[in-house]
Amino acid sequence: MVYVLSIGGNALDSEMKNIKLTINAIKKLHSRGGLIITHGNGPQVGELARVEHLSLSILTAQTEAEIGYAIKKEIENNTHIKTEVFLTEVLVSKKDKAFCNPTKPIGKYYSKSEAYGLSKKGLTLKKFEKGYRRVVPSPKPIEILNIESMKKLMKGRIMIAGGGGGIPLSKERGKIEFVEAVIDKDYTTSLIAEKLKAKRMFILTNVDGAYLDYGKKEERLIKDIKADEMLKYLKEGHFEEGSMKPKVEACIDFVKKNRGIAAIGNIKKADKVIKLEECTVIRP
Ligand code: ADP
Ligand code: MG
Repeated sequence: MVYVLSIGGNALDSEMKNIKLTINAIKKLHSRGGLIITHGNGPQVGELARVEHLSLSILTAQTEAEIGYAIKKEIENNTHIKTEVFLTEVLVSKKDKAFCNPTKPIGKYYSKSEAYGLSKKGLTLKKFEKGYRRVVPSPKPIEILNIESMKKLMKGRIMIAGGGGGIPLSKERGKIEFVEAVIDKDYTTSLIAEKLKAKRMFILTNVDGAYLDYGKKEERLIKDIKADEMLKYLKEGHFEEGSMKPKVEACIDFVKKNRGIAAIGNIKKADKVIKLEECTVIRP
C-alpha cells in the first residue's frame, strides 16, 4: 500500500527538529509499502521573494530543492532508506478564480505600517490574528506533468515530491509558462495521493487537527468524522482560507475519490497520527 505524508511549511524549522520527530513514522510507513512525502513552503518562499525578484515558479523550485534536500538528509542520516527529491511540475489554469482573490499567506508577519508600505509597492497584504502577511493567488493543481518519471524513480525509494505545492506552470499555445502563484501543497498532496492510488493520507501541521469554532472559548477538536459531515462544517466556514480549509478540502477530496482514510494532526505527534490517534480522522 502507498502512503502519503504531508509536512506543513509552518511546521518546519531551519534545523529540521520537527523532521527528526517524524523519522519513526516515516520508517513505519515506508516499510508497509511505498511512501511519498510532500511539504509546504509558505514561510520559506515568502522570504525568498523578499530578496530575489524572480518568478514564484522559480522560487518554488528553489524551495523544493532546499527543503526537500534537508528532509532527505535527515531521513538518510537516520535510516537506511534511499530517498530522492523530485522537482514536481504542476499544471494550473490561468483562468482559475484564485487569480482574482489571493488567499495564500507567504513569508513573515508585518506590522500595520510595514504592510501599508508593501501594499504601496503593489503587493497584496492581508490581516491575520498575529499581524499582516503577503498573500498570493493559490490556484488548484490540475495535473502533475511529470508524474510518470516520479513513478519510475520510486522503486523502493521514499520520494519527496510536490514540495510547496509543486512548481506552478500553465500551458499557453503549447508552451509551458511560469505562473505568479503558490499552489497549496495540501491540494497537490491529494492529487498525488489520488494518482498513486494511496489508501492513507496524513497531513502533519502545527495544531492537533481541525477544530470547530477554532480560536473561540468553545473550540473543540474534530476527532473522527465522515467526509460528508466534514463537508457540512467546511461549508459552515469553520476552516480558514489559506490554512486549514485547503487541508480539509484536500482530505474530503481524497477520501471520496480513493475511498481511503485521511488524517490531519500535529507533527509533534506523528507516531500517534499514523495510528489515527490524537488527531482528526476523516473516513468515507
Ligand atoms: P501548514 O504550514 O502546516 O500548512 P497552515 O498555517 O497552512 O500550516 O495551517 C495550519 C493553521 O491553520 C493552524 O496553525 C491554525 O492557526 C489555522 N487554522 C485555521 N482554522 C483552523 C481550524 N478550524 N482548526 C485548526 N486550525 C485552524
Ligand atoms: Mg498551509
